[in-house]
Amino acid sequence: SYTENVDNAHVRALDRAHVFHSWSAQGALDPLVIKSGEGCRLWDYDGREYLDFSSQLVNTNIGHQHPRVIAAIKAQADELTTIAPAHANWMRGRAAEKILERAPAGFAKVFFTNAGADANENAIRMARAVTGREKILSAYRSYHGGTGSAIAATGDFRRVPNEFSRGHVRFFNPFLYRSEFWADNEEEECQRALHHLRRVIECEGPASIAGLLLETIPGTAGVLVPPPGYLAGVRALADEFGLVLIFDEVMAGFGRTGAWLALDHFDVVPDLITFAKGVNSGYVPAGGVIVNQCIAHHFDDEMFYGGLTYSGHPLAMAAICATLETMQEEGIVDNARHIGETVLSPGLARLAQRHAHVGEVRGLGVFHAIELVEDRDSRAPLAAAKVGKLKQTMLERGLLPFVVANRIHVVPPCIVTAGEAEQGLAIIDEALGTLV
Ligand code: PLP
Repeated sequence: SYTENVDNAHVRALDRAHVFHSWSAQGALDPLVIKSGEGCRLWDYDGREYLDFSSQLVNTNIGHQHPRVIAAIKAQADELTTIAPAHANWMRGRAAEKILERAPAGFAKVFFTNAGADANENAIRMARAVTGREKILSAYRSYHGGTGSAIAATGDFRRVPNEFSRGHVRFFNPFLYRSEFWADNEEEECQRALHHLRRVIECEGPASIAGLLLETIPGTAGVLVPPPGYLAGVRALADEFGLVLIFDEVMAGFGRTGAWLALDHFDVVPDLITFAKGVNSGYVPAGGVIVNQCIAHHFDDEMFYGGLTYSGHPLAMAAICATLETMQEEGIVDNARHIGETVLSPGLARLAQRHAHVGEVRGLGVFHAIELVEDRDSRAPLAAAKVGKLKQTMLERGLLPFVVANRIHVVPPCIVTAGEAEQGLAIIDEALGTLV
């Protein structure tokens, strides 16, 4: 084949010479080399195999190289590879219809973007346009994307050097293990977090606030499943003060949590939903905003000041249609729930019993995190050097993990089998055993 005589060293050298990487100082990088994949497995150019417990950036929900999705992309490529967003196209309409079938009642339209950041960018734009207000409230423990408003809305440390847009205010979202509210239980954490949010809204001036943007289950921040009642409380505050409620389902949506959307677990309906990643597993980049009837109706007469050359790109749309059909027909969302309940949750609980450096395990579906600490009393995050060594040990044993700060996020594709999930947990177990 085209890559017949290429080995890892060659690919790494080419990358280091010419590729500028995301979120990194460029000098000391040593990127893992990957050539090909299938299902939950990846291979490098030297034939070494990895079990993918990262789903890349938590996006390959359907696994690598699903033949039905590849066939759909190829068929669409034969018919039409690209078409401007102003035209009507069958694949685009069908993709929107299929996404709306997975949204709660009351959602009417889909605005397509290239990815998750610009989905949030445009949801923020819609919230500002319909309210005529500027401020967006979002959580400190969050990630919403790398572009202008999306990074300004992000809570994590990557925002600070990028903070050039106006009108963003942040609040603390609930996270009992590292409570900002001196809470001892979920109920206290929930009530106090809601009180804090109310005070932020009141002090910022509700008449200046366009909307509230939050991940239904914050992902990069640590898979922080909100306590019962929190999202309903946020919905009530949004209603009381007339704020547009935006749920970011970019990482948690489309199967990851063992439900079609993460919001299905909470019975709370926002006004806008942003998505990307799992909607077509990134086989062709795509994202978007699912718009409720009321906001869609607003733009029947009002101009929408936003657009992208590749909005609703036909190859991405074909990948969405095939992905959503396949996930339904092959029971992939049910599989994510089942593996979460029967393998990952109990398996992670056993790891927590066996290893003193595990402070907490949490999550649902194929969306879990292991919080690593120096010791359980202080809960001090495990030192970065130890986390780095742990990651190296897992890679050496053939597991590609998703490591963020002091955590291992356990996020295999939604198609993961019980055997693969157990194999991944066994490698994590061995690696934790090497920690002193
Ligand atoms: N929102 C959430 C919750 C995410 O996890 C991410 C990416 O990790 C984004 C938005 C940004 O998506 P993208 O990188 O596709 O722009």
